[in-house]
Amino acid sequence: MAKITYKCPCTSGKIYPDCCELVHKGKTDTPDAEYTVRARYTAYCYGNIGYLVDTMHPRKRRIGDSFSLSKLIKKTRWLGLKIVCHDAGDEVSYVDFVAYRLENGLIAQQHERSKFVLIEGKWFYFDGEELPPLKLERNELCFCGSGKKFKKCHETLPAKIEAM
Ligand SMILES: [Zn+2]
Ligand SMILES: [Zn+2]
Repeated sequence: MAKITYKCPCTSGKIYPDCCELVHKGKTDTPDAEYTVRARYTAYCYGNIGYLVDTMHPRKRRIGDSFSLSKLIKKTRWLGLKIVCHDAGDEVSYVDFVAYRLENGLIAQQHERSKFVLIEGKWFYFDGEELPPLKLERNELCFCGSGKKFKKCHETLPAKIEAM
């Protein structure tokens, strides 16, 4: 029997059934805000709109969220996720992360500091502050989770310079 070896898109290094799938299927809640970022990123990759809406703070949900999410999901090819830092609090946490995506053949970044709020043991995405893109370091591990250095992996794709 072939073993499932595809890795979870969230770059945890684990396979999807041992990682974000547990959360997406409601078998467990994310233990912290950082894991919620990971599970939401994987939900973007797999088009799991239900999970994305469920983890939005109830006060932040709008009619039409599902529609705009599905539009975004359809046009985006995600490349990887990097957690920059996690300021963990008891009821409010912040996660600074970069989601890498392909845009017209170039590497583009969504660098954001997201605010998460805990309600009855569950972390909800509240809102986020956009940050300037990070410099892509040649000798750092590639954001795609391949385990290779950036220069030996996705560096062949040119980076999109985003004016802030
Ligand atoms: Zn995962
Ligand atoms: Zn790569």
